[in-house]
Amino acid sequence: MTANATRVLVLNSGSSSVKYQLLDMEKAADGDSAGARLAVGLVERIGEGTSRLAHTPLAAGGATRETTGPIADHQAALKAVADELAADGLGLDSPELAAIGHRVVHGGLKFTAPTVIDAAVLKEIERLVPVAPLHNPANIIGIRTAQALRPDLPQVAVFDTAFHTTMPESAARYAIDVETADAHRIRRYGFHGTSHAYVSRRTAELLGKAPEEVNVIVLHLGNGASASAVRGGRCVDTSMGLTPLEGLVMGTRSGDIDPAVTFHLKRVAGMSADEIDELLNKKSGLLGLCGDNDMREIRRRIDEGDERAALAFDIYIHRLKKYLGAYTAVLGKVDAVAFTAGVGENAAPVRAAAVAGLEELGMAVDASLNAVRSDEPRLISPDYARVAVAVVPTDEELEIARQTYALVTAS
Ligand code: AMP
Repeated sequence: MTANATRVLVLNSGSSSVKYQLLDMEKAADGDSAGARLAVGLVERIGEGTSRLAHTPLAAGGATRETTGPIADHQAALKAVADELAADGLGLDSPELAAIGHRVVHGGLKFTAPTVIDAAVLKEIERLVPVAPLHNPANIIGIRTAQALRPDLPQVAVFDTAFHTTMPESAARYAIDVETADAHRIRRYGFHGTSHAYVSRRTAELLGKAPEEVNVIVLHLGNGASASAVRGGRCVDTSMGLTPLEGLVMGTRSGDIDPAVTFHLKRVAGMSADEIDELLNKKSGLLGLCGDNDMREIRRRIDEGDERAALAFDIYIHRLKKYLGAYTAVLGKVDAVAFTAGVGENAAPVRAAAVAGLEELGMAVDASLNAVRSDEPRLISPDYARVAVAVVPTDEELEIARQTYALVTAS
């Protein structure tokens, strides 16, 4: 790596999409996270006739360039991304590129930290496919494609599960037969870990404290949603489990449910495992309850007096409150609650409703602070509240880049 190699390309490869960001880590280290982002983009509908690439060269101050047309596979997608970057003088062959950081959804128990990818690491990520059948295969394709493009460059895997590997066995184990659980690696892994790590650390900063000094409940409320209890910078519990299905009510996922519902659907409704999987992951949550999974639309319908939307909102909030109570008990003492992701950062009514009535837990929201719209981390609790309630925008790409850069510059 050359001395002036300060850039990291972050790749988030899905089954038919690749999201990417090119970041300059010197600028990020100076606290200029907006200036650090040199280019961002997305390739979607890979393998279809109507693939679309949207590339925004932020450093060049340029407008988004869109290309549509068939992009056959991930290799072609990454080649197209490389061409777009090269057109702005940010090509992947640049000596300034220090590493490529890959979001990898499932790292099992083995990967507790970001890891430089070699053949053995890739094999282990492959071995985890049975517990992450939707995500890890796409991540593996992204890694292989990037390796082919720049075989000499360090490629780093940053795992969604890593932050949660500090959970004690009491929180991570399901109360099922131990032999069966171990034979099939059934336990609670948790997801969104990069976001929970970033947001809990930023929340400590907002309070002017070191992460070790504070206990934080992070509520990552996007289309997928999860809560975590973070004691002194280490995760001690999180709401997602073996898969991202467990926990909070989400856009299209049910979250916590009596597992007997699945037997019932099989025995009584004659549904197959795949159909039940689809029902609980894709057709449940807010969408299943009221036909919409976008919180903006749900709030609009509530304002018009729509009762189904109102009930969906109430169920969503009820679950959030249960987790706030549970994690207060798990942590013993809570210093802050941090709202993040699409809903958490933008939906003031969700924040107000989730915390309403929790004064006995030391939690409250100030209505005027809660109404402020900003991209900056901010407090929304009144001075008298024992627990700081905060809105802390997440930045998973920056965190992946930060962890990647720290790893490749440490050696
Ligand atoms: P994410 O998965 O973090 O990108 O979050 C996506 C979700 O955020 C969307 O499905 C919306 O429900 C929600 N969202 C985004 N913007 C707003 C907003 N201004 N008000 C309420 N909800 C929003």
